[in-house]
Amino acid sequence: MNEGLSFETLPDSKYAAQLQQETRAAPFPEPLESQYLRSVLRNNRIVVRGACTLAALLGVLRIAQTLMHHQFGGLMSAPVGVVLASSAWLLWLVWSSSYERQYLPVAKVLVPLRNVLGMALVVHAAAAGATDALMVAPLALIGPFFFLGLTFRPGLLAAALALASELGAAWWYHLSVSAAVSSALFMLTTFVACALGALVLERQSRRAFLESQLIGELAQHDVLTWTKNRRMFDESLARLWRQASGDARPMAIMLIDIDDFKAYNDRYGHQAGDVALRQAALAMQCCVRRPLDLVARYGGEEFGVILFDTDRSGAQAAAEAMRRAVQELSIEHDSSRCCDVLTISVGVAVVEPTAWRKPYGALQLADEALYRAKSNGRNRVELMDDVEHRLLVTGEFSTDIIAQLKAGASGA
Ligand code: GH3
Ligand code: MG
Ligand code: MG
Repeated sequence: MNEGLSFETLPDSKYAAQLQQETRAAPFPEPLESQYLRSVLRNNRIVVRGACTLAALLGVLRIAQTLMHHQFGGLMSAPVGVVLASSAWLLWLVWSSSYERQYLPVAKVLVPLRNVLGMALVVHAAAAGATDALMVAPLALIGPFFFLGLTFRPGLLAAALALASELGAAWWYHLSVSAAVSSALFMLTTFVACALGALVLERQSRRAFLESQLIGELAQHDVLTWTKNRRMFDESLARLWRQASGDARPMAIMLIDIDDFKAYNDRYGHQAGDVALRQAALAMQCCVRRPLDLVARYGGEEFGVILFDTDRSGAQAAAEAMRRAVQELSIEHDSSRCCDVLTISVGVAVVEPTAWRKPYGALQLADEALYRAKSNGRNRVELMDDVEHRLLVTGEFSTDIIAQLKAGASGA
C-alpha cells in the first residue's frame, strides 16, 4: 500500500508518513496513538464487553465454588475482594458511556492486578484439592492479548505477570510437582503462542488503521495539491450554506484561477507546472486557517474557497492575502501577460445565504467576478458589487440579467 506514496506527494498526511515507516507493534507518535486506541476500543467494544462480562461471571462462580469447598477457612478475603471489585469496575466501564475515555487507563492497571491475584487464588484452590480450578488459568493469558482491548505491550505485561504469579503461587502453596510442572509447561506454551499471535495481529491492526484513515483522506483530497477535492467543496458549500442561512451569517465564496497557466506549462513544462500548482495551493491554504473555512481544487488550475461568517471587508482582505502570498512565492513566469512571476486572479462573492437562495447563484457570482478580474488585467481581486448583491434574491441569476439590470440602473 505504501509503495508509490511519499511524504512529498501527500504533504499533510500523517497517515502516509507513518505508513512509510516500518510498521511495528510499538505506539505511534501522539496524537495518532490516541486516535488509534480510540478506534481499537470502538471497533472491539462487543468483544471487550463479552470478555469483561465473562471474567466477572467466572470470578463470581469461582468464589462461590471456593466458598462451598473450603468454607471461610481457605479463602483469602482481601485478594478475593480486589478481584471482585476490579471485575465489577471494568464491567461497569464497558457498559458505560465513558467507555472510550476511561476504560483503557483503568484496564491497564486493573487487568494485571486482577491477573496476579486471580492466578494466586486459582493455584491456591488447586493446591487445596480443586485441581480443575487450573482449567481457567490460560484465560489470564489469552484475555489480555486478544479480548480485553489492550494493545500488545500492556497485554504482554498483564499476561507475563499472570504467568509469574502462577509459577510463584505453585511454589508458595506447594502444588504437587506433577501438577506444577504440567501447568507451568502449558502456561508457558500458551504465553509464547499468544504473544507471537498478538504481535502479528497488532502489526496488521496498526497498518489497517493507517490505510483506512489514508483512504478516507484520499477520498476527500486532491492528490496533486492536497487541498480538498471538488466533491468536498460541493458538500461543504451545501452544508455551510444551510448553517449560515440558519445562523443568519454572511459567507464568502471565491473562485481563483492561475494566470496564464497554459503559457507557464508551455514555457517551463508540465511537471514544473505541477510543482507550481502545488506551491500556489499551499500558499493559499496558509491564508485560510479557521476550522470551517476550506480551500479546494475546483478543477484544472482553478480553486474554490469558502469562508464562513465573513463579511465584505474580511473577504476582500483574505483574497488579497492569498493573491499576495502566491505572488510572493516569486515563481518565475516570463510568459505571463501581467507580471514576471506566477500570479492568481480572484473572484469573490459575499452573500447572506437564505433558505430560498441557492449556492450555485453565489458560485455564478464569484465566477462573474473572476471573469472581471481576468478582463481587468489579471493578478487582482474582484468582489461582487452592490447591484449584484441586491440581485441575489432568488439565488439564481444570470450574467445577462445582471448586465440588463445594470444597464437599466445606469440609464435611469
Ligand atoms: P488565464 O489567465 O486566462 O486563466 O489563462 P490560462 O492559460 O491559465 O487559462 P487556460 O484555461 O487557457 O489554461 C489552463 C491551463 O491549466 C491549461 C492546462 O494545461 C493547465 N492545467 C490544468 N490542470 C493542470 C495540472 O494539473 N497540471 C498542470 N501542469 N497544468 C494544468
Ligand atoms: Mg482556468
Ligand atoms: Mg488560468
